[in-house]
Amino acid sequence: MFYIIVLIFGTIAYLLLFIYATPTTVAVGIVLFFFLLWFSLSIFVVQVPFFYSAKTKGDSRRPKVALTFDDGPHPKYTSMVLDILKENDVKATFFLVGNKTQENVAVVQRMVKEGHQIGNHSMSHTHLLSLQRERYQTEEIGECQTAIFDLTGLSPLYYRPPMGYKTPSTLKAAKKLGLTIVGWDIKGWDVFQTDPVKIASSVLNKVKRGSIILLHDSSSVKGKSTDRAPTIDALSIILSGLKDRGLKPVTLKELFAF
Ligand SMILES: [Zn+2]
Repeated sequence: MFYIIVLIFGTIAYLLLFIYATPTTVAVGIVLFFFLLWFSLSIFVVQVPFFYSAKTKGDSRRPKVALTFDDGPHPKYTSMVLDILKENDVKATFFLVGNKTQENVAVVQRMVKEGHQIGNHSMSHTHLLSLQRERYQTEEIGECQTAIFDLTGLSPLYYRPPMGYKTPSTLKAAKKLGLTIVGWDIKGWDVFQTDPVKIASSVLNKVKRGSIILLHDSSSVKGKSTDRAPTIDALSIILSGLKDRGLKPVTLKELFAF
């Protein structure tokens, strides 16, 4: 809420400065405008640092990339993703929504058994979670840690906030739970795009050494059924495209390892 208030008051102050324009107020207005722009971008664009940086890529000297899947587990689509990864002998990272794990125990356990990494994507994936109070964020992230630990005996190392939004409270909450915040530098736009070839092109046209690729194996809203078939079809194209480029998909832990 604090961040919304800063943005609203900042915008009003900005308008007032221009209404009562003098050379000084115009100069202050310009400085304020850039501050507000940076302030907003640092919250809403995961790659823009301000309060702090989220990890959005790995070492660019090695020919490795990380495939990451958000918003699962999903009983059907996550299993299909796992099948394709298995066929290609590829390990990936899944950022799970805690309250979906109970209904998909077997899928989560299969991920671990097949060598994939599990990340924390909050308990209920409230879209504006990162703008909430630190205590609430800590609860949401902590509950997801517990849900994953109860099923797998593993505690995730990485937290990806819903929508990739981040504030200082998000950092504090994650730090308290021993988690590093991880974003991405490449996305398939598969939430909006239904053409698998276009999803694959969005990834393959920009991917480079150290990239973290964002795809989705489920919908972010619990109970809402979204057709993830385009992502499944795109995945095979992406894997063969990465191979052609000499880029090896690995888990985030391996991407960040020295
Ligand atoms: Zn998400």
